[in-house]
Amino acid sequence: MNYTTELNKAYQKLKDIEFALDASSIVAMTDSRGIIEYANDKFCEVSKYNQEELVGSNQSIVNSGFHPKTFFKDMWKTIGTGNVWRGEIKNQAKDGTYYWVDTTIVPFLDSDGKPYQYIAIRYNITKRKQYEEYIEVMAYTDPLTKLPNRNQFSKWIDNYDKKSKETVTVFFLDLDRFKSINDNFGHDTGDIVLTAVADRLRDCLRETDFISRQGGDEFIIILRNDDSEEAVAQIATTILNRLSLPYKFGDTQTFTTASIGISRAVLPTDDLGVDFVENLIKNADTAMYHAKKQGGNKYCFNTAHQNVVLERNYEIDLEIKEALHRGEFTISYQPIINLKNNKIVGAEALLRWNNRKLGSVGPNEFIPVLEQNGLIVPVGKWIIATVCNQMKEWQEQGQLMQRICVNVSPIQFNDRNFVHDLKEILNEVMLDASYLEIEITEGTILDIESSSKTVYELKDLGVKVSIDDFGTGYSSLSYLKQLPIDTLKIDKSFIDDLDRDGEIIANTIISMGKNLNFRIIAEGIESKEQLKYLVNQRCHEGQGYYFSKPITSQQMTELFNEF
Ligand code: C2E
Ligand code: MG
Ligand code: MG
Repeated sequence: MNYTTELNKAYQKLKDIEFALDASSIVAMTDSRGIIEYANDKFCEVSKYNQEELVGSNQSIVNSGFHPKTFFKDMWKTIGTGNVWRGEIKNQAKDGTYYWVDTTIVPFLDSDGKPYQYIAIRYNITKRKQYEEYIEVMAYTDPLTKLPNRNQFSKWIDNYDKKSKETVTVFFLDLDRFKSINDNFGHDTGDIVLTAVADRLRDCLRETDFISRQGGDEFIIILRNDDSEEAVAQIATTILNRLSLPYKFGDTQTFTTASIGISRAVLPTDDLGVDFVENLIKNADTAMYHAKKQGGNKYCFNTAHQNVVLERNYEIDLEIKEALHRGEFTISYQPIINLKNNKIVGAEALLRWNNRKLGSVGPNEFIPVLEQNGLIVPVGKWIIATVCNQMKEWQEQGQLMQRICVNVSPIQFNDRNFVHDLKEILNEVMLDASYLEIEITEGTILDIESSSKTVYELKDLGVKVSIDDFGTGYSSLSYLKQLPIDTLKIDKSFIDDLDRDGEIIANTIISMGKNLNFRIIAEGIESKEQLKYLVNQRCHEGQGYYFSKPITSQQMTELFNEF
């Protein structure tokens, strides 16, 4: 090839398109196969190749491998048919660095209309591209943990080859009681913990595993390594152990644990539909919820049963929204007996729900739903009003029961208007507050600072407070002594234990509780033997099927005459 002739030709051509050129133009001329015949100084400067290296080489010398094959195929199709092509190309310089060029390729045609030469004019747009990449990274990265965020997660799912054959495992991870870290130490500390959690997760996982932060203290991890169930369980255990180690900041440290829900699918045998990743996440979320319910710091595999529970909760949620309006709630009363003289001293009010579609549903099933959808507050108010009215009615009939007990859910108890509403009901019904006893669980008063205000307000009103299911929570008797609590109800499980030589706990609660001046009620007495034992221990009161199942207010009225 005669370099000078080519150069002259090039200059001639360039003159024709001079309007498009300036000092920053990167110019090249190739033959019809893409062999470079001419390269200007700017091309050499940007590509870091010299003239001798460029001229005679195929222009693919600067290919970066970034663009898919179809990209260049389309380009050749355009210029090969005599049209001008324009686009942005990522190229690679001789030293391995990348640069982006805005490229225009103009074909020159022979008399048959076939291109015999191309001129490419390029402009360096690397800076702009880097900025765009930065913006892109920002949009898809969680700024705090530098993990992929929800956007990237969605993109990942969209691009996921839904036909690939493999085992996919999804972890849905949520920190336990993370809110209390934020509340106690402030959000800055919360952020430090989240960042540390992200780092620890990265350490526990492999390159091929995908981790993203979904927001708050929720993380989703996707494993695509065909791991066995045992291997997956091992990974979950490793993560739980790592996350439960202390988090240090300054001179202090804090702790947190996590709950992990796991769902798996072997593709394509397990048919979860086209949205299978979404379904896997939903199942993992359900399993996570079950891990939480077991107290957290646990992993839980998703099971068909969990999905059934979820489905059932969904149905309950739908129906229970109108239950109050439809008058589907009623209240049963279970007598509480003085174990010394066998007299009825009180009754516990227990909510019952009979739904038009679902039939009778137990409170252990529907109360959590009412708590979740927030309806426990209005429904709870209705319960207290109904019960107070009933108690007033009994009093007017001359039934001298000492107390009527009402269960109050933690959510209702922590509601700002709880005490105010209660006071209003008592005034309206004109019931003396001392006849009402509120039953709360240990969990409700675990945070003694926030709960003690309400307990004292109730005390000031004259309402009694009792701790339900005592012994199943975390509190100790000395801890409870900090609050003006009247009554402890020993959980049924300890009364059941009496039949199996397991009297130790019941004994301890009774004797210590009495020393601390609590009234002690044994719950769930079913047999004569249990009763005998409790009488011997001088337990104050008892409640259970042995005396009576929960009954209607009408039956209760009749019962007064028998005892
Ligand atoms: P709880 O407050 O501990 O109530 C005692 C539960 O034990 C009641 O179940 C009662 O029917 C049952 N029980 C009583 N004696 C015996 C016995 O001898 N043997 C057996 N096997 N069971 C006995 P229920 O009515 O199904 O209520 C379950 C739980 O639902 C209650 O436990 C309480 O935590 C909650 N709950 C019930 N009514 C209400 C309500 O009005 N408001 C709130 N927030 N929770 C309620
Ligand atoms: Mg109760
Ligand atoms: Mg109980």
